[in-house]
Amino acid sequence: MLEAGLKVAIIDAGQILQSTTSFTTAKVSSQHGLIYNSLLSHFGKEAARLYYEANEDAIRFISDTIQKHNIECHFQREDSYLYADSEQQLEQLRQEWEAYRQLDLPGEWIDELPLQVESKGAIVLRNQAHFHPLQYLSALTNYIVEKGGRFYEHTTLEDYAKEQDDDNIILKTAEGHKVACQYAVSASHFPFFDGGGLYFTRLHAERSYVIAIKPQKAYPGGMYINCGEPKRSIRPAMFNESEVLLVGVNLIGQGRMIARSNGMRSWRNSPGIPSG
Ligand SMILES: Cc1cc2nc3c(=O)[nH]c(=O)nc-3n(C[C@H](O)[C@H](O)[C@H](O)COP(=O)(O)OP(=O)(O)OC[C@H]3O[C@@H](n4cnc5c(N)ncnc54)[C@H](O)[C@@H]3O)c2cc1C
Repeated sequence: MLEAGLKVAIIDAGQILQSTTSFTTAKVSSQHGLIYNSLLSHFGKEAARLYYEANEDAIRFISDTIQKHNIECHFQREDSYLYADSEQQLEQLRQEWEAYRQLDLPGEWIDELPLQVESKGAIVLRNQAHFHPLQYLSALTNYIVEKGGRFYEHTTLEDYAKEQDDDNIILKTAEGHKVACQYAVSASHFPFFDGGGLYFTRLHAERSYVIAIKPQKAYPGGMYINCGEPKRSIRPAMFNESEVLLVGVNLIGQGRMIARSNGMRSWRNSPGIPSG
């Protein structure tokens, strides 16, 4: 927006670089679990293909932005694997693979993963990526300030209204202040303006745990996620100039934290990810 010559203000209820993005696994990928079969059946071929292309555009945008601004953020291209670790998951994965073929996506079916974890088959999407999102965003924040953009933290937006007499959009803050602008982009993760969408009815709580492991033997490369529950995710990262593996487990609606961390520990001891 700044590059298009607009005057830009970023308004945040908390502090920038603090929310979900600061806890993400930060795989930059067009492969988001079992998604294409569902998109195909709910929205049709054109929309499902568009989803893939939009995500590939986003990967290119991030890569180009990093080069353009010379940002040091550990951006690295990596193959992405979606795998089945049970017979039930394998059936779902086969349906997903059928969707890849119908949409002509450049995935490949493989029977064995390079990483030694239990798997019945996988779809690999080559040339995806991962990075350090806060290093990337910190550099962009400096750039925005240099170009005259302004950040307003601890300012919660509560509502939106179109003025009667001109084309301005009026945003209203929790303290009762008004912000007039020509264009507004809502990037609050959960939309603060509902607009009759009843989005709040679709919210549910989830909690994920991630541990960083220093591998004892050479890591074969790749980013991995299974297609069932509990969701298990793994990607390499750099920490203090040495390679670590980020291993995450997402468990929905289970009771005790201790059960969750035990579930993660048992997977950490899988033969493919021996740890120090
Ligand atoms: C454990 C985990 C792993 C993940 N792994 C991946 C991954 O590997 N790859 C991937 O692509 N995605 C991943 N995701 C998802 C990804 O992290 C999120 O989709 C992304 O970080 C959301 O970014 P955001 O800027 O929309 O939201 P946030 O980072 O949450 O930022 C939203 C901002 O809006 C502000 N805000 C909220 N309400 C208001 C309001 N009313 N007024 C003003 N400001 C407001 C908040 O203060 C906050 O700063 C993961 C998520 C989790 C939790």
